[in-house]
Amino acid sequence: MISDYLYLVYANCKALGRSANFNAELCRSNFRDTLQEICSELNLSSEIELQSTLLQLKQNRAGLIIKTHPFLEIFYLLNTLDEVNADASDFDELGRFKYSASFQKQNNLAPNRVLHLILETCNKIPFLRTNFDYSPSPTRFFLSHDIDSLYGSTVQDGLWAIKHMRPDVLLTLFANLITQKPHWFNIDLIMDIESEYDFRSTFYWLVNKGRINSRQTNSDYSISSPKLKACLKRVTDRGFENGLHKSISNQNLEEEAALLPSKPIGNRFHYLKFTLPGAYQSLEASGFKLDASLGFAEQFGFRNAYSLPFSPYNFDTRTAHGFLEVPLTLMDGTFQRYLKLPVEKTADQVIAFFENNKQNALLSVLWHNTFFTSYKYKGYLQEYKKILAYLHASKLVCMNQNDILNYYSWTQE
Ligand SMILES: [Zn+2]
Repeated sequence: MISDYLYLVYANCKALGRSANFNAELCRSNFRDTLQEICSELNLSSEIELQSTLLQLKQNRAGLIIKTHPFLEIFYLLNTLDEVNADASDFDELGRFKYSASFQKQNNLAPNRVLHLILETCNKIPFLRTNFDYSPSPTRFFLSHDIDSLYGSTVQDGLWAIKHMRPDVLLTLFANLITQKPHWFNIDLIMDIESEYDFRSTFYWLVNKGRINSRQTNSDYSISSPKLKACLKRVTDRGFENGLHKSISNQNLEEEAALLPSKPIGNRFHYLKFTLPGAYQSLEASGFKLDASLGFAEQFGFRNAYSLPFSPYNFDTRTAHGFLEVPLTLMDGTFQRYLKLPVEKTADQVIAFFENNKQNALLSVLWHNTFFTSYKYKGYLQEYKKILAYLHASKLVCMNQNDILNYYSWTQE
């Protein structure tokens, strides 16, 4: 039920503590009573009818309904219901929901609107004030790398070298080819850089290879090759983690996961290409514990207007899903490809976002391995190092997938 789910949202919110008077049973029943009142106000017979109304709600009418009570707005935004019932024109050429079509953009909402509503209701609604106290904590962060290409340097950096008339670079690339040291096969370098600060990250791997069409391509490496197997082992030997980067294929998540050398706990969809609620159902069915995909490609920030990991609502079972969604907040390609920010301004932008969210957030930063290289993606390595230096100096805690699951997983009580 939505009321029980809302109880879990508050009970698991890491910006709240439980007061001395906390009483779970009473709190749950207060949520049920409030939802019953909301249903009456909307002339709906029950929460089941409310659920089907919300699920079928077109975005242009959503404002009317969810303004009835902050609980509805929290539920709607947290679960990005604007994406569930969207029009075809709300998706980009890859089938991804567009930031410009989102309820938060259309209504110019504050970036962390859901947390704001949670804290505001804890001040205003008596039963919430009885049960919860505000308990802020410093922001934490999660670093990850989607590995789309390991062998693309010869061609792509080669084209860059021709365009920029750099025969010296062409010679270097040729030497890399002869010595079999592909410039983009740089997983060890990434681990070295992050280890300097004692940070540990996650690498998301594609298990399918090859071009799909002119716009989409899977990997250019074979996940089952001895070289890749050895690389993935070095990742875990050094305390880093591997996850699945769900490819464009007819295989389901479980089938793809089985192609990695060991069972992954986390996934991120390649190109951030997924639709809701289908993707959540698939994650649940395949036994993943964590998904790190919920971010817009073309805009940084909080795709569901909430700064913390959460378990989405399962409309079939009317309970919270069993996995944790860890939204993606900041990605290299957003700044480079979509916002076309000058490379030397990238770290400033990322750091400003951290500065604006110093409390009560888990910020997830994605830097592709290609953005650690010297030619086509020149400059982004230096920007990443600036970000790492800032994170270290700010004494923010770095969390990897397992840490996140241990700290943020929802409890049902
Ligand atoms: Zn990818």
